[in-house]
Amino acid sequence: MEYDLIVIGSGPGGYVAAIRAGQLGLKTALVEKYSTLGGTCLNVGCIPSKALLDSSEHYHNANKHFDTHGIGTGKLSINFAKMLERKNAVVSQTTQGIVGLMAKNKVDVHHGMGSFVDSQTIKIDSDNGETKEIRGKKIIIATGSKPFSIPGVEVDKKRVITSTEALGLPEIPKTMIVIGGGAIGLELGSVYARLGTKVQVVEYMDNIIPNMDKECGRVLMRSLKKIGVEFFLKHAVKEVSVKGKTVTLKADDLKKKKEVQFKGDYVLVATGRKAFTKGLNLDAAGITIDSRGKVPVNNVCETSSPGIFAIGDVVEGVMLAHKAEEEGVAVVEYIAGQPFHLNHNTIPGVVYTWPEAAAVGKTEEELKKAGISYKSGSFPFKASGRARAAEETDGFVKILSDKETDEILGVHMVGPRAADMIGECVVAMEYRASAEDIGRICHAHPTFSEAIKEAALGATDNRALHI
Ligand code: FAD
Repeated sequence: MEYDLIVIGSGPGGYVAAIRAGQLGLKTALVEKYSTLGGTCLNVGCIPSKALLDSSEHYHNANKHFDTHGIGTGKLSINFAKMLERKNAVVSQTTQGIVGLMAKNKVDVHHGMGSFVDSQTIKIDSDNGETKEIRGKKIIIATGSKPFSIPGVEVDKKRVITSTEALGLPEIPKTMIVIGGGAIGLELGSVYARLGTKVQVVEYMDNIIPNMDKECGRVLMRSLKKIGVEFFLKHAVKEVSVKGKTVTLKADDLKKKKEVQFKGDYVLVATGRKAFTKGLNLDAAGITIDSRGKVPVNNVCETSSPGIFAIGDVVEGVMLAHKAEEEGVAVVEYIAGQPFHLNHNTIPGVVYTWPEAAAVGKTEEELKKAGISYKSGSFPFKASGRARAAEETDGFVKILSDKETDEILGVHMVGPRAADMIGECVVAMEYRASAEDIGRICHAHPTFSEAIKEAALGATDNRALHI
């Protein structure tokens, strides 16, 4: 079987690349080792985690907030098995949708483990023992990533778990210790905290969501404490041990310089993800991974072996589904003779806790480090009429713009619907808007997005209207 393009891996990077290739008329094959398409994102990542976040948010609001609005509910209960069933149904609908999209775009799907025979031949080993080889003029590696643990912490998938197991626990734990205060740990920690679990987050750094602007971490931590999440920052985890149904975690409190112990029903290891290239036999294609296990690529995502590209979590850059998708489209268009378009500086980052945290562009810390002079405008949601009407006054929007040109360099927010609102800021930055541009654009009243306009006015001339 001869193809114009073979894509290995059907996550958001791979399947989107395959769709675009189909649209552009390339004869395309998609190779996936699992029986369902969609990769981490659809099966054990973005989609199931958001399904559980939404369900747990409904429960939490009914439990804690309805009364404020004058709504009585009587005694609430949780049917956790049904919650998981709904999550599974959402996943299966979504992954089935990808099967339909592959058919629509005339992409041949081959299930089985793909590995290089040479730089244009892929061997596919199916679960049923069958083996076949397909050839492609071009190949895209989109094999994604797997959860990554730290020394002293062995994942047993029963009591010491990763995000994958946390999405389908047999019960709502009484206590859960989360190692890592990044997006995945905080989102899944929020799910269980809302359902009544005592959640303790143990983080090595002095801030949660350490890759985002520091102010976002501080403000988000205050909000999450309100739902009962406890934080232990500057704690270096040394060891985790399991006895029966109890997990003990030992860590060094780096501030107080003493060892501390935590006990819980489960330890969720959320210390990041590692690029996945196992079994690909990259040697046969003349490709060597770097010291962090990633596939090195140039500025058009091409590897050291001409005609072989790599995208998504398996290469350098933020490990996000939309980054993988954009790389997939850009590579396929490049293969089809079009320019490679992708601006890594305008890839938004979102944490789907409540309130949500969202950002695009440079943080204050990055601007300071780079010696770039900037102006800053901030607007708190407590000054927003819409936020008060919704009882959602936690958080803020901060816009950073160049001191000379006023071009927007970064936007950082914690607040209601921040995940959706960041889109406006991404558009603004793609068009290289100034803070004044946003300040002069009419925003509907009353909306949460007025906070963006107000922050922009603040950055322009310190002339926010409502503070
Ligand atoms: P993946 O989605 O990992 O897909 C890789 C695919 O390749 C897999 O299906 C794998 O089976 C297949 N594969 C690997 N090796 C082979 C082989 N040799 N042969 C055949 N097939 C192979 N990102 C967001 O942007 N927003 C979110 O809200 C978000 N939430 C997340 C929540 C959780 C709990 C987790 C774990 C991740 C989340 N992410 C989120 C991250 C997101 O899932 C990843 O960034 C994204 O899935 C990466 O896409 P990818 O295509 O590079 O790889």
